[in-house]
Amino acid sequence: MSLTLSKQGNLMCQNSPMIKLAKDINMSLASDSKQWLNLGVGNPLITKEVEEYWLSVIKSISAEKVAQSVMSYGSTSGDLLLRKTCSELLNKHYGWETTAENILVTNGSQSLFFMLNNIFSGQFNSDSKKIFIPALPEYVGYSGQILNQDGFDARLPTVKNIDDKEFIYKLDIENCHVNRREHGAMILSFPSNPTGKCLSEQEWQFLVKAAENEGIPLIIDCAYGNPFPGLCHQPIDFKMLPNLVYSFSFSKAGIPGSRIGIAVADSALVANLSLSQCNATIQPNAYAQLLANQAINHHDLSRFCHQVLRPMYSNMALFAKTLMMDLFKGINWKMHQYSGGMFLWIQFSDLKCNSQVIYEEAKKHKLIIVPGDVFFFGVDSSSIGGEQCIRISLAVSERTLIEGLSILKNIIHKLLVNKN
Ligand code: PLP
Repeated sequence: MSLTLSKQGNLMCQNSPMIKLAKDINMSLASDSKQWLNLGVGNPLITKEVEEYWLSVIKSISAEKVAQSVMSYGSTSGDLLLRKTCSELLNKHYGWETTAENILVTNGSQSLFFMLNNIFSGQFNSDSKKIFIPALPEYVGYSGQILNQDGFDARLPTVKNIDDKEFIYKLDIENCHVNRREHGAMILSFPSNPTGKCLSEQEWQFLVKAAENEGIPLIIDCAYGNPFPGLCHQPIDFKMLPNLVYSFSFSKAGIPGSRIGIAVADSALVANLSLSQCNATIQPNAYAQLLANQAINHHDLSRFCHQVLRPMYSNMALFAKTLMMDLFKGINWKMHQYSGGMFLWIQFSDLKCNSQVIYEEAKKHKLIIVPGDVFFFGVDSSSIGGEQCIRISLAVSERTLIEGLSILKNIIHKLLVNKN
């Protein structure tokens, strides 16, 4: 049978940049994975302490309780107890006044973004609208989600040098004109995947005002945010306003395979998302909800994130920077200031080649890094030197970092000597 898909079907099944990259990396790792050094990891780091924490959560739920919950369908919006639990946790953390009506439990935040990116883009009454990305580079996982061609409208940031080893991307406020005729919503990750950036108070206020003025949602992806997984080192006093949609995920706290996240938004939007979720998947995963509830209510998830995960990644970021200062002497490199999340974003500005060349060269030496171009959604990033950027993961061991960065140093050195 020749497979004929609809236009939307083709977009739903597209080989998005995220899928292409994951396939390529998995294909490389499939052969003798032990010999590879993987600095591309997106899985959270599962240390002994992390494993022990989640094992204790799992073991504390009785088999009867698991059986009870997985043997029947549950609520489309998520279990009421968990929605109340999450609402109370976030109210305490941010001083909000949400109720369960403001919370939707999802099968992971990726599925929430699929709903949001399509609910707020495409054909409206008379206008066709896109999702506005205020500053690239941005999370590659959004890029394959929209069921319309060219569903994103994205801007580049400006670059502010902090010192000779660190820079920070700033919202290009002059060029960040969102408007309700062209844009259905705005989206950003905070802290950012891939850069580790957290918005400044001024940038945050600008986006909140823009969303309010235009009457469109601002979607804030807190996959690395506080209180869980707690990897935001430059937090903002998040407010609960009608235009703001927050997404939180349990993945980076240690349970990515269980697929669970939550959306926090105005109750009318939550009600619509609940319908959309019902149409697509009926309900969120029951076992994952038990885990999340148990972790928050009986195993102090916030404390675990704050005291275990947060220092683990920030120590690794510091370790990686110190290592680079030492290893990359004589090479012109800089990194985006680390303010949170699980990654470092590194630029080699003297290279003539783009990051795909670094990626391919690294593979020849059994090293995986993530080429920066996949985070630019097809936008030419040469004006900010984006083509010479790569992302490395902090969810690795010190040994992997030491060995991986040593190989990377040799590759960059060779590319520079060959004037690539
Ligand atoms: N958002 C960001 C910024 C991410 O980095 C990821 C995963 O890496 C996700 C969302 C998706 O996370 P999940 O669907 O596991 O909640």
